[in-house]
This record gives sequence, C-alpha cells and structure tokens, in this order.
Amino acid sequence: MSALSELYQETERCQGCELAKHRTRVVPGEGAEDADILFIGEAPGWHEAQQGRPCVGPAGHFLEELIASIGLTREKVYIANVIKCRPPGNRDPAPAEIQACRKWLDRQIELIHPKMVVTLGRYSMARFFPGESIGRVHGTAKRQDDFICYAMYHPAAALHQQSLRRVIEADMLKIPQILSQAKSVSEPKKQAEQLSMF
Ligand code: URA
Repeated sequence: MSALSELYQETERCQGCELAKHRTRVVPGEGAEDADILFIGEAPGWHEAQQGRPCVGPAGHFLEELIASIGLTREKVYIANVIKCRPPGNRDPAPAEIQACRKWLDRQIELIHPKMVVTLGRYSMARFFPGESIGRVHGTAKRQDDFICYAMYHPAAALHQQSLRRVIEADMLKIPQILSQAKSVSEPKKQAEQLSMF
C-alpha cells in the first residue's frame, strides 16, 4: 500500500473538527501519486461526499474540461481540497476546520511532491498567497519551497458568473509554459526571475 493510501486510511479516522461528526465520506483526494501538478480546491460538496472523490460535481466537470484544454486528464494530475469533509449545506470552510485539516494537505504535498500547486479559489489561495485577493493574484505564479504556486479562480465561479469563464480558461492555458519552466530551471533565484514575467 502506498504512503498516500495509508494516509487516506488515517483521514477516515480523523476527529480533528466538528465536520467528522456528520460526514458521509472523507474526500482526501485522487490522481497520479507522482503528478507534476496538484490542484487544490476548497471542500467537498454533496456529490463528492457521496462518492468520496474530489471535484465530481458540475464544477468538477468544468475542471476536467480545463485540464483537457492543456492536454491532460484528471488521472495524470492530482486533485485535493483544503478540507477533506463536506461542510453542511456547502457553507464556506471555517478557519478552525482549515487549521485542523492542514496536516493532511501538508502530508499530501510532501508525498506527491508536485512541481506546481494550482490553487482553485479563495481558500487555497489564502494558504499560498496570504493577504492577496483572488481578483489581483489569479493567473500569477510564484515560487514556494520547491514548487511553483499558481492561483486561479475556482471553476465553480464560472458557473455562477459567466464572464469569469474566459478568464479561467485563459489562466489554465498559461500552466504548460510555467510547468515547463519549473521543470527546466532548478536554480531558485533564476526561476523567480523567470516567473516574474507571469
Ligand atoms: N469544489 C471543490 O473545491 N472541491 C470539490 O471537491 C468539489 C467542489
């Protein structure tokens, strides 16, 4: 059994916050365990909690289209969320829930060791781009530790606000170039300089 699978067995026993009391299924994440790109969404919704899989509802279908637009499939990337259990009524995750779940996301990042972390929406952006606003930071990349962070609007935003669809599609199309730089340049300072053009 892989270290990630073992981790996921642990998440099923997690009692770290109130969400554990009423959850249907834990939704730890899924994808290629050696993926170059880790997408981090917000929290499971109803569909995800039923299936125990991330991003399988309407926003997830749009995410799959976006991933296809850069020549990939969801099996070739990794998809996870900031929190692993569904907040009731799909409310926003509470700070205490995000804090309690942080250790699971930390371990996922360590084990998957992605070259690029793509944040989807405000909650995952807040972790990697603290103090920023999504309107300002979307479509930009920065280096953190040994990976590149890249911020995007959550695909669900396009379902509520049609005008964001094109923005999200355009931001997704920048990923291959940033990823190829992340792969080809190992020296941090040079990489930061190259990324400043995005
Ligand atoms: N939205 C998310 O951020 N994650 C999911 O898994 C589903 C919807």
